[in-house]
Parts: sequence; structure tokens; C-alpha cells
Amino acid sequence: MNKLYINGEWVDAIDGETLDLINPATEEKIITLPAAGGKDCHIAIAAAEKAFVQWSKTTPYTRAVILKSAAQYIRDNLTAFAGDMVTESGKPLAEAKGEWTVAANLFEWYAEEAKRAYGRVIPTNRPDKRSSVIWQPMGVIGVITAWNFPAYNPARAWAAALAAGCTLVVKPAETTPLSAFRLADALIRSGLPPGVLNLLIGDPASIGEEMLNNPALRKISFTGSTRVGKLLMDGASRTHTKLSLELGGNAPVLIFGDVDIEKTARAAASARFRNNGQVCIAPQRFYVEQSIFERFAERLTHYVAQLKVGNGFEEGVHVGPLITRRQRDSVLDLLERAKAQQARVLTGGQRLDQKGFFVQPAVITGVDQSSVLARNEIFGPLLPLFSFEGIDDAIEKANDTEYGLAAYVFTNDLNTALLAAERLEFGIVGINEWAPHGTEAPFGGWKHSGQGHESGQEGLYEYMEKKLISIGGLPG
Ligand code: NAD
Repeated sequence: MNKLYINGEWVDAIDGETLDLINPATEEKIITLPAAGGKDCHIAIAAAEKAFVQWSKTTPYTRAVILKSAAQYIRDNLTAFAGDMVTESGKPLAEAKGEWTVAANLFEWYAEEAKRAYGRVIPTNRPDKRSSVIWQPMGVIGVITAWNFPAYNPARAWAAALAAGCTLVVKPAETTPLSAFRLADALIRSGLPPGVLNLLIGDPASIGEEMLNNPALRKISFTGSTRVGKLLMDGASRTHTKLSLELGGNAPVLIFGDVDIEKTARAAASARFRNNGQVCIAPQRFYVEQSIFERFAERLTHYVAQLKVGNGFEEGVHVGPLITRRQRDSVLDLLERAKAQQARVLTGGQRLDQKGFFVQPAVITGVDQSSVLARNEIFGPLLPLFSFEGIDDAIEKANDTEYGLAAYVFTNDLNTALLAAERLEFGIVGINEWAPHGTEAPFGGWKHSGQGHESGQEGLYEYMEKKLISIGGLPG
């Protein structure tokens, strides 16, 4: 294990390249790993293409046995798997365990859902004709994923694509490969045939290029930044590579004047800093109705100041380090730029005076729509507070972004909740809910936040082709 996995074997990179994995909480090296490039990717795609011939012919029932066994293996080894995740990502152990539980659930859910990829029989307008629609696996899929959820991001794409009957060349993030190795190992131990899943860690650009240039690879499922998503869109015309894109977000949170201030402020402090704010649907731009702004800001600051920052293995830690030095510096840079625009820090925002990429969670006021904290995806532990007057103002400010992934609304008024939900230009809207997602529910963004869906029934069909079978010349 802990190498590239190509055609059923754990191997080194062809060119002998390596990369060092760093623990973000200690800045120490965890392990040196082989680093793949385009040549390794070429071989992996060939292996996946060959394996597709048999794998695509298996029934969803056969595939379900392997996926469910992998789910059980994950559950049986939850603590060890979660430990690896904390080491590579820094997130608190409880969050890591929760994430692995969801990964197992995804494997199990898609094992069952693929059995229900029903087609359709269509009544025709001619007595000698019959029409039906069937679903078939798409072929070799490339899966490229981000580090922020080292098990969940790969699991939701791998599970759906494997259940659909596709074979895979996967490239998890270089900063969090250990969880991906574990995920692959669970499938291999459960009987996944050689070539069905091929795993590469390495140079993103050359692996991505090979995926785009190689006509045998039918689709790339990408979870990551809008910047790289657009690069893939530019390259996809070469061999007509299909794309599913789960990209960045900049979620607004509308807090109306009728909420329970204490309860909402306490929950907001915890929701905003889950995974250190490094979440695509992270509640980011907090719009609070003017009538309760001061009181809400005071209670929120109270709770945020109490969050404990530290190594994810330590008892009672709420917030770990940022994933890399670069990510930490980009968050601190955003904060400095916001301060230059008159932003005021109510608590936090400083680096911890120790090894590791730690930043104390911050609450910020004095910002408006032109602030860098409103325009950019922060992906870190900063919580900017904005104000609004009435629902029209709230919706206008919330929609004033190129992103369209998730939005949140907090109110006890049914009319306000419904109107806001319908007028928000986002693929996911949470009403009085900080976790608006689930294994069984579609997850996808509008505008620059992506195209296509992961998870839920929709996630399965991202990896299947629809075929019309039209039979004529029948005795009428
Ligand atoms: P990123 O785009 O830099 O990297 C994501 C993945 O793409 C990594 O595996 C990386 O190695 C790879 N990559 C980088 N350059 C590439 C290239 N030229 N060709 C092919 N692959 C390339 O994103 P990141 O900073 O690692 O992750 C954070 C971003 O991911 C945030 O914007 C976040 O919102 C987004 N994200 C979205 C979702 C979602 O479901 N919408 C989920 C998680 C993260």
C-alpha cells in the first residue's frame, strides 16, 4: 500500500519521481510517496479500459456485494482510518470519524441504488414500433478530488461510478492521499478485480492533461476549485471529455430578526468553523437583520472566542490547522486586505505561536459587498458579518456573487423561509439547517460552482449513458 495502484498492483512511478507528505499540525514529514505523471496515467487508463469489458457486464447485484463489503471494512477499521486522516489533514478526530462513516454509507447506498437504474418503455405512435430507454455504464472515468474531505470527496464519486459499472482512474489530492489509499484498500480486500480502480498520486497538471487527451477516458468527475474546473472545461473539447464539476462556493447565511439569537449564534460558531472553514458549502457571508445585528455579533463573538484550536488528536479541540502553509498565508492575506478596507476584527485572526498552520477563528465586522471577504471564497477560519434590512435587501446581497453552491436561511416565519428559498440562486438551500446534504440527496452548484450532481439518485446517472432502443417492422 501507500504507492500508486495500477492494474491490480501497488507500484512506483515510471520516472521515479516522489513527493513528501507533510503533517499540517506539526510541519513534520509523514512519508515519501511515489509521484505519478502523464505516463503513469496513460498506463492506468489502458488498464481501466481493458477492465471495463468485464466489469461493465457484471450485474449491479455482483457489484453491490463488493461495495457493501468495503463499507463494512471501513466501519470495522474506523478508528485507524480516522487516525490517518487526522495526521494528513489536521481535522479533529471526531470529524474524521464522522467523515469515514459517511464514506461507508455512500458505498452502501450506491450498492443498492444501482439496482434501481430502471429504464422506460415509451408508447409509440405506430403499431409496428416499440421504444424503450435503457441506462448503461459510461466507460472509463477520471476522478480528481480536493483535500478538504479526504474520504468523502473520493467516496461519493467512486461509489456511484463503480456501482454504475464504470472503471476508474482516480487522482486524490497530493496533500491527503492516505485516506484514498485506505479507501482503495477497502475495495481491493472486498474483491474488486484488477484494473477496475487505478489510483495515482502525483503531478496534477500532467495527469489532468493525459485524462483530457486520451479518448479512452470518457468523463472527468472533478471536485475542486473553480479555477481548475475552468481549465478542464477549456481542455474538454479535445477528445470530447464529459465533465461533472463540483467547484467552489461562497455561501450566504441570512439570519432574520425573529430567530432565537442565543441558539443561532452558538450553532453558527460551530458550523462556520467545521473543518476550519475549509468546506465548499461552508456558511461564509453572514447577513444579519439590522434589528438584531449588535446583539447577534456580541453573542457570536462570545462563542467563537471559546473555540479550542490545536492538533486534531487532542481532546476537546474544535479547530485544527489549515491544510498547508500556502492556505494559511492566503487566509491571513485576505484578512490583511479586508483590514485595509476598514474591516474590524472582534476576535481571533492571529497565527498561533507554535509549529503547524494554525489560525485563531475570527469574527469580522465593518465589511460590505465590495469587501474581499464578500467577493472571494475564504476557505479558512474567518467569519465576516454583514447587515441587511428586509428580505429584498437580503436576497439581493446573497445572490451578489458568481458562486451558486449553498445558501442558508434562519427564520421562524414560513413566508420568509419559502420566499427566500425560492429566490436564492443556489443549488442547495438550508432552512434552519446547517447540514443541508445527505448520501441520498443531490449535491451540486449553480453558476460558477459547477455542473452536474454528486450523491443521491442524480449522482448515479452522472456515470451512465442513456440509450433509446427503437424497434420497427413488428407485425402491426
Ligand atoms: P484545486 O482545484 O487546487 O485542486 C483540486 C484537485 O485538482 C486536486 O486533486 C489537485 O491536485 C487537482 N488539480 C490541480 N490542478 C490541476 C490541473 N491543472 N489539472 C487537473 N487537476 C488539477 O482545489 P483545492 O484548493 O485543492 O480545493 C479547494 C476547492 O475545492 C475549493 O474551491 C472548494 O470549494 C472546492 N470543493 C468543492 C466541493 C464541491 O462539492 N462543490 C467539495 C470540496 C471542495
